Amino acid sequence: MQTKNIAIIGSGLVGSLLALYLRKREYTVTVFDRRPDIRTIEFSGRSINLAMSVRGWKTLDKIGIGDEVRKLAIPMNKRTMHVTGEPIYHQYYGKDGEAISSIPRGILNKKMITLAEEAGAVFRFNEKVWDINLPEAKIYTGETERGEWKEYKYDMIFGCDGAFSRVRHKMQRRSRFNYSQKFLDTGYKELGIPANTDGTHKLDKNSLHIWPRGKFMLIALPNLDGSFTCTLFMPHEGDSSFEKLTNDEAVMQFWKQYFPDTIAIMPTLLEDFKSNPTSALVTMKCYPWTYWDKVALVGDSAHAIVPFYGQGMNAGFEDISILDEIIENEGDKNWEEIFEMYQKSRKPNADAIAELSYRNFIEMSSKTADPEFILRKRIEKQFSQKYPDKWLPLYSRVTFSRRPYSEALNIGDQQAAIMDKVMKLDDIENIWDTEQVEHYILGLLEDKKVIQ
Ligand SMILES: Cc1cc2nc3c(=O)[nH]c(=O)nc-3n(C[C@H](O)[C@H](O)[C@H](O)COP(=O)(O)OP(=O)(O)OC[C@H]3O[C@@H](n4cnc5c(N)ncnc54)[C@H](O)[C@@H]3O)c2cc1C
Repeated sequence: MQTKNIAIIGSGLVGSLLALYLRKREYTVTVFDRRPDIRTIEFSGRSINLAMSVRGWKTLDKIGIGDEVRKLAIPMNKRTMHVTGEPIYHQYYGKDGEAISSIPRGILNKKMITLAEEAGAVFRFNEKVWDINLPEAKIYTGETERGEWKEYKYDMIFGCDGAFSRVRHKMQRRSRFNYSQKFLDTGYKELGIPANTDGTHKLDKNSLHIWPRGKFMLIALPNLDGSFTCTLFMPHEGDSSFEKLTNDEAVMQFWKQYFPDTIAIMPTLLEDFKSNPTSALVTMKCYPWTYWDKVALVGDSAHAIVPFYGQGMNAGFEDISILDEIIENEGDKNWEEIFEMYQKSRKPNADAIAELSYRNFIEMSSKTADPEFILRKRIEKQFSQKYPDKWLPLYSRVTFSRRPYSEALNIGDQQAAIMDKVMKLDDIENIWDTEQVEHYILGLLEDKKVIQ
């Protein structure tokens, strides 16, 4: 029987799943959250969804809850592109059957809290953590920052309190703690496409829909109830920007110009636009992620990224499975060493997925509609289908494999350099599917010694 008494700050997706993992190892676990219990809050009418891919699924499968969660998911095997002036077309994500999954965030979070509670974790909702004593692993909670606080003492604390983490904030005050935060000029707003009256979806439900428009884009992910959650990503300021869309007339005019095909299926557009906030997107990096054998950051508190690769939650879940693997291999002996191995293993990967996510905004919003980009992807796909051991496309390595993100970034850059050369071949539009191109790629792979 383990004796360690552990506090987790944050009952979000990462905190509640970590609680389940730690309970399976029989630690005593208490989870604090400033929010009320989301299971007791009435459903607000719209479920916000996230894309889950292989890293997320593996973490859920490892603890035996993957199949239960799969029942809540809608597989999306392709992007469906709604390019201005062109017929709708599809870009399949991976090999036959490979798909990412649209999962309702709230339902997933509620399920994981329940599972962790059933496994013996204690949840203390409505308890905001205001301060932490790092060397003594003490936390202080209370109603207000200046009011009376309760003190709790633990053997270890995990900070799973999201991008604006209090736990990290306390670590930031220490010497030689590196921290950076960068807001994107692009913000986002959530909108909706309701279900048909018979509960069916108004668009193909097995797709992630994208309306790419250069500096801005609209995307839609399916929900189980027949609706779609749409997100408009757009600059905060400038020509086409949120600051320009300040009244109904401006919104409608903008919509008629850029997304006319969605007007009929978005009857609540104006209402949604006014009532839903315009939110900011941030990349946050820091290091170290741990304090001796006492405190560790997991999930967004350690590495908040922009959402364009759909990997934030997946990366947070992967933190948990890697940490669990280290505990498994090292045994419950030296936690300073366990934490050190954890942060050394995860930090380069967190930085890599931050970079890839940032780059993917450009790909999704402008390149996906570009004929040269489409040809490039077609050549890559054909080559990788013929030589799967020589070329795993970047998207597949990130989304459908568990290879390290840092490796994906590195090999992806080498593949991009090869494809830059291929695209410069004379008459590539007409010779792209010939043996000449195939041999050219094989030669470049050999020269560059790209190891797949
Ligand atoms: C628009 C958008 C789309 C996204 N899409 C995807 C996607 O498709 N796929 C994907 O993998 N990821 C996606 N993400 C990222 C994903 O949402 C996050 O990575 C994930 O929610 C992080 O989980 P977390 O538990 O670390 O943090 P959070 O979900 O932020 O949870 C933090 C918890 O800590 C609590 N807390 C905070 N401070 C305190 C305190 N002082 N005391 C007590 N409790 C506290 C909060 O109440 C909260 O419950 C998206 C993000 C955004 C913004």
